[in-house]
Amino acid sequence: MASTTAFQFQIQDLPPEGIVVSGEVSFAELDIPDDDLVRCPEPLRYELRISPVGQGVLIRGRLSSELEMTCDRCLDPVRVPIEDSEVCHHLEHLEGVIVDLTEDLREDILLVFPQTCLCQDECLGLCPECGKNLNDGPCACRTASAGENPWGALDGLDLTER
Ligand SMILES: [Zn+2]
Ligand SMILES: [Zn+2]
Repeated sequence: MASTTAFQFQIQDLPPEGIVVSGEVSFAELDIPDDDLVRCPEPLRYELRISPVGQGVLIRGRLSSELEMTCDRCLDPVRVPIEDSEVCHHLEHLEGVIVDLTEDLREDILLVFPQTCLCQDECLGLCPECGKNLNDGPCACRTASAGENPWGALDGLDLTER
């Protein structure tokens, strides 16, 4: 499991209204490696308010970043903004003066990783024949097969004749 301490916060003597902590943490520090589908060139940005609640603390706030993914259809790289603006963790009966939220926040951000990715809703994908990206225009084999349309001959038939 992740051994990082990217999100350890001091919780001693919190004022009643809490404190706001913000900054950036790299995904590598969170033990979230790049893979074939998702790369993380940007850091994870966080802005969190830590407030005292009873014997514990309440942590609320926002995590955001931008991923580089691969379009499912045309395989082009796509920048995908991600955000969890409803981070909320309530920790009770704390011992010590430090809370470690690394595992919790790591799970939060992994939950908003998209499962699918398209560069645009109407992405045309790649030609199954030649592999050309059809968003860049029709490929040679498309135009050629249109010319050999087997139904083309029917256009010449006069269907009004009995
Ligand atoms: Zn695409
Ligand atoms: Zn083609």
